[in-house]
Amino acid sequence: AKESGRKAIVLASPELKNEVENLIRKENELRSAFANGQLEMFYQPRVDLITGKISGAEALMRWRDPIKGIIPPKDFIPLAEEIGLIRSMTEWALSEVCKQQKKWSDSGIDIVPISVNLVAEQFQDDQIIKTLKTSLDESRLPAKFLEVELTESAAMQDPKKTAQLLNQIRDLGILIAIDDFGTGYSSLAYLEKFPIDILKIDISFVQGVTKDLHSIAITSAIIAMAKELKFLIVAEGVEIEGQREFLSSHHCEEGQGYLFSQPVPADTFKQLLINKVSY
Ligand code: C2E
Ligand code: CA
Ligand code: CA
Ligand code: CA
Repeated sequence: AKESGRKAIVLASPELKNEVENLIRKENELRSAFANGQLEMFYQPRVDLITGKISGAEALMRWRDPIKGIIPPKDFIPLAEEIGLIRSMTEWALSEVCKQQKKWSDSGIDIVPISVNLVAEQFQDDQIIKTLKTSLDESRLPAKFLEVELTESAAMQDPKKTAQLLNQIRDLGILIAIDDFGTGYSSLAYLEKFPIDILKIDISFVQGVTKDLHSIAITSAIIAMAKELKFLIVAEGVEIEGQREFLSSHHCEEGQGYLFSQPVPADTFKQLLINKVSY
């Protein structure tokens, strides 16, 4: 049905034909980039706001094109979701992160938990469980060094199925983070039904805490409620000292953002761990 739909569009007008051709070209480019090993994981540290030490990291995907350089995820993740490539890409990301972690650990480095972003589609069936098991088994990485992130809207698409899968993920020993918190529709009360360990407060609130009362009110309310529910709280997008001060004075445990470090290539992140940097 999809094929015939496409043909009908192509016949409709030259402009649309162009658009469809562009999309198909980009699709082919992404598929071959993936097949040729041009995708790469970057790592952004998460920092303990009391000690200043690196307490974890988020793995973020980059497309390293030989001509265009580094392409950010916003320019290819949505496409990957559309063309059904995101599952394979996530499988690759998970196995890459686990292997990387094991290698660092085997060479004597004190590793920290690293999270991988999952998408809504992966909470519709059981495939993700097998994928996670395989990554852990093949790398022989202890599960506590792997975390997954999903947004509230991904979790809310099929809350019952999501709860079931999240319980299985927790049984594997993998920690679960809710991403972009505050931007979706769910309430904290609802999230309590999921086995969540970490709440990541969306960048938009964090960046407002030195500027507007609205962000201050929302951010302090999120922190207070998350504490009640015993979630570990991570603030995303910490860029300036004033934001860090607000967050630590409100007892937010961890922060992630340019104030500490941008997402960096694996070798750079490894050096941060070796040097035991403190922010
Ligand atoms: P996200 O999961 O919310 O990731 C955080 C984004 O905020 C990252 O953008 C990061 O570079 C950016 N960021 C971190 N600190 C700061 C800061 O202080 N200021 C500002 N302005 N931004 C900051 P990035 O790497 O471009 O990724 C964008 C989005 O793409 C991610 O948002 C995530 O939704 C998606 N993404 C990235 N990698 C993956 C992946 O491997 N799999 C999936 N499914 N999605 C991914
Ligand atoms: Ca994320
Ligand atoms: Ca986020
Ligand atoms: Ca986001």
